[in-house]
Amino acid sequence: MPLQIYINGQFYDKENAKISVYDHGLLYGDGVFEGLRSYSGKVFQLTQHLDRLYESALAICLQIPISKAQLADDVNKTLKINNLHDAYIRLVVTRGSGSLGLDPNRTSDPQVIIIADSISLYPEENYKNGLKIITASTVRSHPAALSPRIKSLNYLNNIMAKMEGLQAGCVEALMLNHKGEVAECTGDNIFIVKNGVLMTPSKDAGILEGITRNAVLELAREHGIPTQEVTLTRHDLFVADECFLTGSAAEVIPVVSIDSRPIGGGSVGATTIKLMAAFKKLVHG
Ligand code: PMP
Repeated sequence: MPLQIYINGQFYDKENAKISVYDHGLLYGDGVFEGLRSYSGKVFQLTQHLDRLYESALAICLQIPISKAQLADDVNKTLKINNLHDAYIRLVVTRGSGSLGLDPNRTSDPQVIIIADSISLYPEENYKNGLKIITASTVRSHPAALSPRIKSLNYLNNIMAKMEGLQAGCVEALMLNHKGEVAECTGDNIFIVKNGVLMTPSKDAGILEGITRNAVLELAREHGIPTQEVTLTRHDLFVADECFLTGSAAEVIPVVSIDSRPIGGGSVGATTIKLMAAFKKLVHG
């Protein structure tokens, strides 16, 4: 059976899963989304992802037409119908189709889409030997322009930075905020370890409050590793003992070089290895 895609309560074969070209999600990036993982058939932190999705929607005055409980059921149904256990799940809610103009009041029928498929973001060897990243010159969007807390369908800001990374031969790139402080990477949050303390930019650095980020902070506390959510600069990264990224797709992945400078001697650090193992244990139960 071809992959089954959920759109507004119905399942369609992948090639027949279509929405209108008048949908403002397509025309203007007007909509919100989430990326989730399931491990052994159980969706990891489903409640947290749904809370963030509904908050993103609220922030852009988009009314999701079904309840959180219904959407949670539908996510599980999508996994089941596709017989998927370890999957990547993409939730998308668009503004719906409307006229050729920005006015969201002239749209109807927001589309709720669930895609459950596989994803492999970074090559396996990067988990062992670490990623090399660069700092992009594209600044993370100003929170007063479009808050990075909103996981909207407008990802061009991140895509521009991702392109810079790819052009430099790196699969991920660091983004600074409008004040020149470390914000996050294009699709991942960033952490460093310095003198035994785990540090990550605080929410007011203008970042997406990652669900993996929060899970890793919690795991660190459980393992007696001191944590700080603080302002970080590139200087802090360059002199860090360790660096790693977190994200639903990426999980926990070490970084060993930034802008061609080795971080922590250029090898994967002990705290990173410990947290990668703890995260693996957490998701696999
Ligand atoms: N920052 C950005 C910009 C993201 O798009 C993502 C999700 N891919 C993250 C951070 C990580 O968030 P999460 O751990 O919730 O997947």
